Amino acid sequence: MRKNNTKVYKQIAAAIKRHKTFFLTGHKKPDGDTVASELAMASLLRRCGKQVELVNREPVPEQLSFLKGVEEIKHAQKIDKSFDVAIVFECSEPERMGNIIDLKKQAKLVINIDHHLKHSFFGDINLIDVEASSNSEQLFYLFQQLKLPLREDEATALYLGIMADTGRFQYSNTNCQTLKIASELLKQNVNVSFLCEKMYGTRRLSSLKLLSRALTGLEFIDGGIAVLKVTKKDFKAVQASEEDTDEFVNYGLLIPNSLISLFLRESSLNGIIKVSLRSRLHVNVCKIAEKFGGGGHKYASGCEIKGSMEEVSNQILSLARKSL
Ligand code: 5GP
Repeated sequence: MRKNNTKVYKQIAAAIKRHKTFFLTGHKKPDGDTVASELAMASLLRRCGKQVELVNREPVPEQLSFLKGVEEIKHAQKIDKSFDVAIVFECSEPERMGNIIDLKKQAKLVINIDHHLKHSFFGDINLIDVEASSNSEQLFYLFQQLKLPLREDEATALYLGIMADTGRFQYSNTNCQTLKIASELLKQNVNVSFLCEKMYGTRRLSSLKLLSRALTGLEFIDGGIAVLKVTKKDFKAVQASEEDTDEFVNYGLLIPNSLISLFLRESSLNGIIKVSLRSRLHVNVCKIAEKFGGGGHKYASGCEIKGSMEEVSNQILSLARKSL
C-alpha cells in the first residue's frame, strides 16, 4: 500500500463498517477497469454484509459480458433512491458519471476513487493515486486493508481491470508494483489465456468493417500526428456502434515517428465529437484534452467537443501541432 494513502484506505474501511447501503458507479462509457472495479467492490461490500446497487449511465460493453456478476450492473439516465454511501470510480468530476445521481442529495457520504491526472476531490473521502495503474490496483490495497483474502472472481475482475488499463501490461503505467499485484492475483486461479481471448482475441464483424473504413482515411500530418475519423455515416454503413471503436486510436501510433494519435468519432448526440488522444515521449495529450474540458493521463486522454467534424478536427490539430 502506498504510504501517503494509508490514512485514506483506513477511512474507507471505517466508512464501510459504519454504513449499510452502497451505490456504485463509474464514468460514462464504462471500460474494463471501471466495470472490474465495480464488480470487485460490490463483492467486497457484500462479504461485509452490505447492500449494494450498481448503476452506470451507459451499458456494460458486450465484450465484458462474460464477467461474473456483470448482469447486476444496471444502466439508467437517473436514479431516484438515496444511499448511505456513493462510491464513484474513475471520474475526475461528478459530471463524468453522466449526472445519474445527485451526490449531495442522494448520498450521505461520497467516496471518490480515481487514478487520473486531473481531479476535483469531489468526495468526502478521496482516494486519488495518479501513480496507480488502475482503479483495480487501488482496490487490491483495499482488500488488504480489510484483511479480506481475494476470491477467484474478485481476483479475475481486478486482473482484468489492470490488464485493460495498462494495455496488457505494456503502457508506461506498468511498473514492478503492478506486476507484483498481478502475480498475487494469479495465485487465485485467474485464467489469463481465457481473459485475453475474451478481451483481445475476438472482434465483431461490424467493428472490423468500421476499422477498415477508418483506416482507409487515416492521415499522417506534420511528420508526427496521425488522425483517424469515424462519422455517423460510417457507423450506419456497417451497422456498428460506439463500442466497436475500442482500440482504434492505437493504430495511429503504429506509424513510425508518430508522436500523437487522434481518433475522432461523431457521437450519436447531435453536434458532439468524441476525441481520443494517445501520445509518446515528451507529448502530454492530457494537457490538450483538458483545454476542452476532458482529461485522462499523460499518454492517453479523451474529451468531447461541440462542433462539426471539420471544426473539431481543426481545433484539436492546432493544439496537437503546438505540442509536438
Ligand atoms: P479513451 O480515449 O479510451 O476514451 O480515454 C482515455 C483516457 O482518458 C481514460 O483514462 C479516460 O478515463 C479519459 N477520458 C476520456 N474521455 C474523457 C473526458 O471526456 N473527460 C475526462 N476527464 N477524461 C476522459
